[in-house]
Amino acid sequence: VVVLVIGEGAREHALCFALRQSPSCEAVFCAPGNAGISSSRDATCISDLGILDSLAVISFCRKQGIGLVVVGPEAPLVSGLADDLFKAGIPAFGPSSEAAVLEGSKNFMKNLCDKYNIPTAKYKTFMDPSAAKKYIKEEGTPIVIKADGLADGKGVIIAKTLEEAYEAVDSMLVKGIFGSAGCKILVEEFLEGEEASFHALVDGENAVALESAQDHKQVGDGDRGPNTGGMGAYSPAPILTPELQSLVMKSIILPTVKGMAAEGCRFVGVLYAGLMIEKKSGLPKLIEYNVRFGDPECQVLMARLESDLVQAMLAACRGDVTGVKLKWSPESAMVVVMASKGYPGAYDKGSVIWNLEEAEVVAPSVKILHAGTAFDSDGNIVATGGRVLGVTAKGKNLEEAHERAYQAIEAINWPGGFCRQDIGWRAFAKQQL
Ligand code: ATP
Repeated sequence: VVVLVIGEGAREHALCFALRQSPSCEAVFCAPGNAGISSSRDATCISDLGILDSLAVISFCRKQGIGLVVVGPEAPLVSGLADDLFKAGIPAFGPSSEAAVLEGSKNFMKNLCDKYNIPTAKYKTFMDPSAAKKYIKEEGTPIVIKADGLADGKGVIIAKTLEEAYEAVDSMLVKGIFGSAGCKILVEEFLEGEEASFHALVDGENAVALESAQDHKQVGDGDRGPNTGGMGAYSPAPILTPELQSLVMKSIILPTVKGMAAEGCRFVGVLYAGLMIEKKSGLPKLIEYNVRFGDPECQVLMARLESDLVQAMLAACRGDVTGVKLKWSPESAMVVVMASKGYPGAYDKGSVIWNLEEAEVVAPSVKILHAGTAFDSDGNIVATGGRVLGVTAKGKNLEEAHERAYQAIEAINWPGGFCRQDIGWRAFAKQQL
């Protein structure tokens, strides 16, 4: 099978790598891809293919005999790339635009939870600012204010005071800072606990769980400072015990998949649930759905997957995941994200990164995945984005994976970059209990 991966981040680099390892994979293309994906030869990058231009993607697929398209990011899914590929008879791993609403509209997701009894934070939806403020006053703080639509991960405000909460309401409903994505808002109960990521392979009717993972969203050590796209992740996540994993499948994932099918929008692809394991009950509640792999969780899941990913994804496209038995390495995996100094605020572009090849061989099982890189005119790899590299390693346990990843980071010479020093700390703290 010849595969096309859509996207340009470290998540897509990890997917290209895992797909290329699949026995049934003949070749991998990635559009648009990036400098690291092409220089590692994990895929042939097609940098000028417009990924929101379905006709161009379909014509490329026909020319190259593509037998599977894997869509990495949410934007092309929300805009309907998987629908168009499906209509053209090309197997596409990813939901239709109708099913992608699970991520595209928080209100839709919450309504589904209500209808199918899926545990999630209590909430109310508002378009009128004074009604929202009245409800906030009744509920008290802390409280969470969310824009309904996609807002680049910036549409969620956790308000500690009433003033902060009212300001968030005004900025979304009166000033309209998120445009139409914020003309409807959700006011949500604040859940206290520890977050974990849960991924499942879904075929429209059934689902198979992937291994557990946990990420670190904040920019600073100790999970402090502003939120980012994710500064590191690891798998397995000790917080998700086997009992909790079956409970998540039974109480959250399967009712969602069946509910979506009953609503007439079958979900095919990877469903990624952001969970809160509540402190007071120890039970999982759904915070949000994403309709694709998490980034950076995908990097550690792909590092541990030993099954033929092409066949697993094709089975999902055919509506046949019940026969899929995924095999995982018993080893642990960790990814540490290196970002441009200044991220998630303003940062400079174009700083040179040296020693990447050397760093990849300083310890066993290290793999450096690229997110925001390009070549400069001298052929050097330069940083072009906020999150730039995903330094991934496996080990017999999380400690060993951590040690190897940070050994590789030591060897990378990138004065313009930084990373967190404590990826995995929650897991290590649990092991010491
Ligand atoms: P992203 O796409 O960046 O993951 P998002 O914009 O889709 O985020 P959410 O995932 O819903 O938004 O929320 C972002 C973060 O805010 C969560 O990861 C969690 O840390 C926090 N959060 C959201 N809802 C709640 C809640 N009800 N209680 C406590 N924390 C919450």
